[in-house]
Amino acid sequence: MNESDRQSTGMSAALAGLHGHASAASRWLADLVMPPQCLLTGEPVGRHGDLAPAVWQQLHFIDAPLCSACGIPWEAQMTGHDLCAACVAGEDHPAALIFAKGLDRVRCALRYDDLSAQLALRLKYADRLDMAAGLSRLMVQAGRELLTGQALLVPVPLHRARLVSRRYNQAAILARAVSRSSGLGLCLDMLQRHRATPRQQGLSAKGRERNVRGAFRIAPTHAERARGAHIVLIDDVLTTGSTLKACARVLKRSGAARVDALVLARVVPEGIGAI
Ligand SMILES: [Zn+2]
Repeated sequence: MNESDRQSTGMSAALAGLHGHASAASRWLADLVMPPQCLLTGEPVGRHGDLAPAVWQQLHFIDAPLCSACGIPWEAQMTGHDLCAACVAGEDHPAALIFAKGLDRVRCALRYDDLSAQLALRLKYADRLDMAAGLSRLMVQAGRELLTGQALLVPVPLHRARLVSRRYNQAAILARAVSRSSGLGLCLDMLQRHRATPRQQGLSAKGRERNVRGAFRIAPTHAERARGAHIVLIDDVLTTGSTLKACARVLKRSGAARVDALVLARVVPEGIGAI
């Protein structure tokens, strides 16, 4: 998909999303009161949630060719290969994300770099909730293979104490926006983070797995809803995937038929896609 395709796809999703229920007159009035600005630079743009063209061109979108399971991008087109080395090796591989009793597929909109980190941090800490509609459009495009049928969107939860200090869960904000853009169902509180865990920053992959082990559970009131469901977990950043894997295991144990994950930005280690 080239840049103009991306922009035009985003345009139609935007019309169904941010202003889907607003009349043309009220949109015009809203734009007059608060003109659309680039999410990062503040430059004038055509619609709310957009990025300035210069920012757009610097973002690194994750697009085909990629591993059909974990979604890691290939370095180059690799004919005859559908899965990356980690997905072929399975649970023993240090970078494996996909397991029979865990995640089935993962897709991400952006590579995690300085620019996408700024977008994620502003959403997370700077009360820029207006960004969610624009960012969700990128996620819907990246996750088009996952967002089908009766897929149910479930955000990765925060522990209650962190939710109180931060006031909102950025994954829930993105999940709500992806639901609006895609029309798919949403269950904001299917998962609970019942054990507070230290921050993951600075921990090794194994340390991160230990840190979140046993931290999540399914809300008893939603246990029945999870059974047989196709669930798409939503989060802002994927580093090693330990949090998503822990959430997926809980959902599979509760009888979910398929658990995929859709993330805004992902750390892509060097050479990980090669077989
Ligand atoms: Zn893979």
